[in-house]
Amino acid sequence: MEAWEKNVRKVVPYTPGEQPNRPGMVKLNTNENPYPPAPGVAEALRAIGADSLRRYPDPSAGALVRALAEHYGVGEDQVFVGVGSDDVLAMSFLTFFQGGKPILFPDITYSFYDVWADLYRIPYECQPLDADFRIRAEDYRKSCGGIVIPNPNAPTGIALGLEELERIIAGNPDVIVIIDEAYVDFGARSVLPLLPKYGNLLVVRTFSKSRSLAGMRIGYAFGSQKLIKYLNDAKYSFNSYTMSAAALAAGTAALEDDAYFQETLQKVIRTRERVKGELRRLGFAFTDSRSNFIFATHPGCPARDLFEALKEADIYVRYFDKPRIDSYLRITVGTDGEMDRLIRFLEQYIGEKL
Ligand code: PMP
Repeated sequence: MEAWEKNVRKVVPYTPGEQPNRPGMVKLNTNENPYPPAPGVAEALRAIGADSLRRYPDPSAGALVRALAEHYGVGEDQVFVGVGSDDVLAMSFLTFFQGGKPILFPDITYSFYDVWADLYRIPYECQPLDADFRIRAEDYRKSCGGIVIPNPNAPTGIALGLEELERIIAGNPDVIVIIDEAYVDFGARSVLPLLPKYGNLLVVRTFSKSRSLAGMRIGYAFGSQKLIKYLNDAKYSFNSYTMSAAALAAGTAALEDDAYFQETLQKVIRTRERVKGELRRLGFAFTDSRSNFIFATHPGCPARDLFEALKEADIYVRYFDKPRIDSYLRITVGTDGEMDRLIRFLEQYIGEKL
């Protein structure tokens, strides 16, 4: 080890899902939306023009912040935006979690939370999900430095009810409670209506899933004015121009087309429910997912083998080699055509194995 290495901020990084890009492949491994973004997005990107890119973008991301405030009925000073919700979450960890007490989040959850905690040297304590993979609200009624709950949770897809979430938020008035609503549009209830009641609530969302803009990197958060001011102070002390001109234009345009948004959401939800029926027929068990993925296990097929076999067939899903969930696959809901290809493969695979 070199002498300078003792001063390195060491961290084991988060491993994102693979991003292969071959013609004909079926990519169901990173919870992207199978449908294109709203048609207005392409138009908005064309309208920016390369010449305008010599200028810095608006550091306050005004157009996007105004559009979000108007769309969701909150004040402009209650909106924070960032480069994907990963950036919003990382900035929130940095801003709000630095007490001596551990922050709390589930043991099975988005595997970036512990990475940010390690990066910022924030102590944390994972709360085990119950035997049915459900978050127990009562586990979050203890002295702590903050709380992060994804709703629906990932990779289980299971959603908590509003009453349980309110119990967690109300029960911890001395710390910030982050509700990560990355997948909420696909069928869970948002805590957004609770915002006027709780100054310690931060609701984090993304354009990556329900708005088909994973490639553009747009995340946002709603909170009290005070909370958003603290977040912006940290952001402006880190990087003033986080949102590119392209992201500002694309995000604003996506928000304008609510009819398209609702239509694609319904398509994903319909496909999810249909595929659940097919998987049940094939002997799979799965959680009650309210997201754009299905978390499924088969009693007769080890998940790792199935994962590898699917990959051989150019069908990519996600496998987590972790205690309690290593017999499950997380399968993103694609188009009906993509899901039919998956089902046909599974029919044949399971037919041969069992
Ligand atoms: N939260 C959860 C629960 C997620 O699964 C993801 C997607 N990997 C994110 C946040 C981050 O998404 P993005 O940075 O694309 O907004």
